[in-house]
Amino acid sequence: MKRIALYPGSFDPFTLGHLDIVQRLSRLYDEVVVAVLVNPRKQPYLPAGARVAGIAGAVSALQNVRVIQDEGAATDLAKRVGAQVVIRGLRSVTDFEYETSIAAGYYYMAPEIETVFMPARPEHGCISSSLVREIHALGGDVSKLVPAPVLSSLAEKNARKERET
Ligand code: ADP
Repeated sequence: MKRIALYPGSFDPFTLGHLDIVQRLSRLYDEVVVAVLVNPRKQPYLPAGARVAGIAGAVSALQNVRVIQDEGAATDLAKRVGAQVVIRGLRSVTDFEYETSIAAGYYYMAPEIETVFMPARPEHGCISSSLVREIHALGGDVSKLVPAPVLSSLAEKNARKERET
């Protein structure tokens, strides 16, 4: 049986912390599916297509990783892509509280799918998409926080904003 892991998230934007999780997963599973989950009720910082493109660029060297975009429940998506596990990353106690409730939701929706938690490496414990968004929105340098292809997507956002003003 092919072991397939689904790693879902908003990835708005995808950070070096997320990339580290994907790299480690690619060594543990036969296939890793990174899914940008779109919430139609939320206005994202980066459009979904740009998020997918940035992730695809960042993981291009990993042969067994693919990136998709989806709406709806991660557990339904897991079944559709044939994943046995859904991966969530853990940085802190706050993450633990939030992620255990997410895992409970997954369990009630699809008890046959396991949620697996992967701890952040200590050097990535303080990196979050919201931190990147805040620094970037203030005109700061986020090159130490996101992979290079994501930096390009963020630069495009700035260029778009400039064209509009
Ligand atoms: P959400 O899906 O809740 O919007 P994100 O898209 O930010 O969250 O992240 C997706 C998953 O990656 C979550 O499980 C989150 O805890 C985890 N994660 C976020 N940042 C890091 C990091 N720096 N290191 C490891 N895991 C992380």
